[in-house]
Amino acid sequence: MSATPAGIAEAARLIKAGDVVAFPTETVYGLGADATNDNAVARIFAVKGRPSFNPLIVHVADIAQARRLARWTDLADKLAAQFWPGALTLVLERAADCPLSLLVSAGLSSVAIRLPAHGIASALITVAGRPIAAPSANASGAMSPTTAAHVAASLGDKVPLIVDGGPCKVGVESTVIDLTGDVPILLRPGGVALEDIEAALGRSIPSALDDEEHPKSPGMLARHYAPRSQLRLDALSAEAGETLLGFGPNTPAGTTNLSTTGNLEEAAANLFALLHRLDETATKIAVMPIPETGLGRAINDRLRRAAKRD
Ligand code: AMP
Ligand code: MG
Repeated sequence: MSATPAGIAEAARLIKAGDVVAFPTETVYGLGADATNDNAVARIFAVKGRPSFNPLIVHVADIAQARRLARWTDLADKLAAQFWPGALTLVLERAADCPLSLLVSAGLSSVAIRLPAHGIASALITVAGRPIAAPSANASGAMSPTTAAHVAASLGDKVPLIVDGGPCKVGVESTVIDLTGDVPILLRPGGVALEDIEAALGRSIPSALDDEEHPKSPGMLARHYAPRSQLRLDALSAEAGETLLGFGPNTPAGTTNLSTTGNLEEAAANLFALLHRLDETATKIAVMPIPETGLGRAINDRLRRAAKRD
């Protein structure tokens, strides 16, 4: 679909309805969904076939929108003033009343935000009237798409609409800077040069990639969400002292259930919200078996990490 006002209106309608849409930004094409809707965000992971839940970048139409989503800082102000709109993503703590899905943060207390420098992307976010979560619009493991044809080749049969905005100008992903700690940290090199960011801040920025103690793959860079409670997986029932988290129609009545029908997309959408909720009162959580297929692989990956204690 070409990026006419009618095309953008149709894309915005799909986003508001909880569907996914591929759209151009100046970095790469994104696979976008309503960032405030758990089910819509879960669709992104389902369509990409991602084996794990990496946190996603939330795209906004202006700085005011970013400030409503995250705990804004002086450094964020400085970087946004100089590099937004543009290929720089800022990781910030979620605002106390943050309306975003917990799934976009993969259960973390932080969120990655970017204001893209692309007329079609801005128009889409504005017309949809909500922030749009979007990873690159390619199947998991494939290269990032920089034309609508790349998207069509990788995901064509899985997305209802690809907005064609021609080739992406930057063509590589955004630079990701973590502003949640005492010092800014480079999480991913990208479209804005690190040197330019260092010049803007008047300081050098350590890279998480150089850090021996942290895993190197980008998806692993995020500290993973771990509940306070001890987790036991593949539980058929709760033992003494455990709270059961159910899945599917065989779950005992009255139990918190990831999906009563056994729908993995629904379970993914509910995962972090329900874990957070149970974690408020439980000390041990027993999770019923979840099939290792489709989004079940990503759910189990996250649960296994959360269950691991060291
Ligand atoms: P992609 O959506 O594929 O462009 O990748 C997004 C990048 O931003 C990945 O490298 C993520 O690990 C990183 N990212 C997104 N959200 C967060 C977050 N809350 N904390 C740390 N890193 C994040
Ligand atoms: Mg990608």
